[in-house]
Amino acid sequence: MKKYLVPLIMLLTTMCQPLSAGNSAPAPAAQSAEAKPNTPPVAEEKTPEPTPPPPSQTAEVARKAPIEALEVEMPAVKLSVAIVVDGELSPMTPSDINLILSTAQKTMAEKLAYNNISFEIKKTMTVEEFIDSSLKNAESCRKNLEDKRYSLDKEPDFTPFRNDILTFLKRWELDELKEFFSKEKAAAYKKHEDLIDDIITVYKEKVNKIKSINLPNGNSLLSPQKAPYRSYVNWICAMQGQTAYDIVLTNEFVLYDLITEPYPHSIFQKCKVGGASLKSPSRKIMPQRALFASTFGIENKLPFFDEDPAGNISHEEKQKITGMFILAHELGHAIFKLPDFYDHPDTCLMTTKAETDYITGYNLLKNNPGTCPKCQPWVEARRHYFRALELYSQKKYEEAIDFFKKVIKETPKHIDGSYRSMLADVVINIAKCYHDMGNAKEAKRWLKSARNADQYNETPAALWQTWFGEKMP
Ligand SMILES: [Zn+2]
Ligand SMILES: [Zn+2]
Repeated sequence: MKKYLVPLIMLLTTMCQPLSAGNSAPAPAAQSAEAKPNTPPVAEEKTPEPTPPPPSQTAEVARKAPIEALEVEMPAVKLSVAIVVDGELSPMTPSDINLILSTAQKTMAEKLAYNNISFEIKKTMTVEEFIDSSLKNAESCRKNLEDKRYSLDKEPDFTPFRNDILTFLKRWELDELKEFFSKEKAAAYKKHEDLIDDIITVYKEKVNKIKSINLPNGNSLLSPQKAPYRSYVNWICAMQGQTAYDIVLTNEFVLYDLITEPYPHSIFQKCKVGGASLKSPSRKIMPQRALFASTFGIENKLPFFDEDPAGNISHEEKQKITGMFILAHELGHAIFKLPDFYDHPDTCLMTTKAETDYITGYNLLKNNPGTCPKCQPWVEARRHYFRALELYSQKKYEEAIDFFKKVIKETPKHIDGSYRSMLADVVINIAKCYHDMGNAKEAKRWLKSARNADQYNETPAALWQTWFGEKMP
């Protein structure tokens, strides 16, 4: 990553139409489109040592110095933003957008000690324009996820997906998941399998309720015309297909309709997605990630979704809630690979508890300044990554390799997105170091290792072809 010392400038370009707002519970992060997150990376026989750290390591590392004390400087980045508007929902004005972005910027500095983030708004467009054009580039994603979309026409059959759901839920300790249920129910759960039926029941209740909701203009929230633009599955694929933005800020309502990954904090809340850090292969600043954040959650007047029925929250404060509780949280996922936590302290930007609505969550963050010590292992591992990229750009290859290896060793297993994708990305960077040093043998070994780590990543084969003028064996 280049080191341009662009300080905290917020570039609000020519604003066009007001945006409508939309949002929802803090966003689910991973996608089934990625490789299985819980499988350890494969290190082939001759492969250099990309062995994942044991999960228990997280707790140990957490006792180290606080985030502020780390010596590694994060690079200055300017993130490209698209403003995506649904004309049926509450608009976002240019000053709303400015406040959302500046709040997110401040929050990243306060909560994750990242001082060098700025934003540039590149385009404002309708949700139809964004989703339709992006989906054209996402055929394989659509093919992969279409049967995992919650069907709005007939009640979906979860039976074929029980194993997927189980694998997904095992990302969390059983005790963390129990928090979402009544004491009586929780006491009866002895293993992850025991939760599945109850989660499915709640999921169906929520979707049925949402299907009955009408907007003030009389149209159904999930009308056949609008439902495709309000489908999380479509947003996942659109973010994969789009190539131009790191952040999409929208007012859209996004239904949580990916049935293989029933995030408890979405299902037990309003079954919508307030934002998400997602795979976006052509984006480089947050490697292969881009995110969307929605203002809908705090900016709607629909009784089922309204977070502030008493009207206590000022318009300005609502923008800050989106900036801090949604957008900065998603940046925590996308930049630091932090997953959602259900058991971190009140200072934690990544905490997402069942009882935490937008306003409570925002107030907790505001009233508990400082960083979260339990998030530190992720933050530290990611800082090593950015340090390694910087060393690489300075042609200090040996040192860069050392830092990339630290990333492999120290990154906790449970991350935002796929562990294998993360691993492959780091291993590819090590291969690049060896290639640039003129060590073809090592470069080849690491490329093979990267392909083993993530079979969906096409970069190792492409680099092999470019570097060695032959097909990767
Ligand atoms: Zn989250
Ligand atoms: Zn934390």
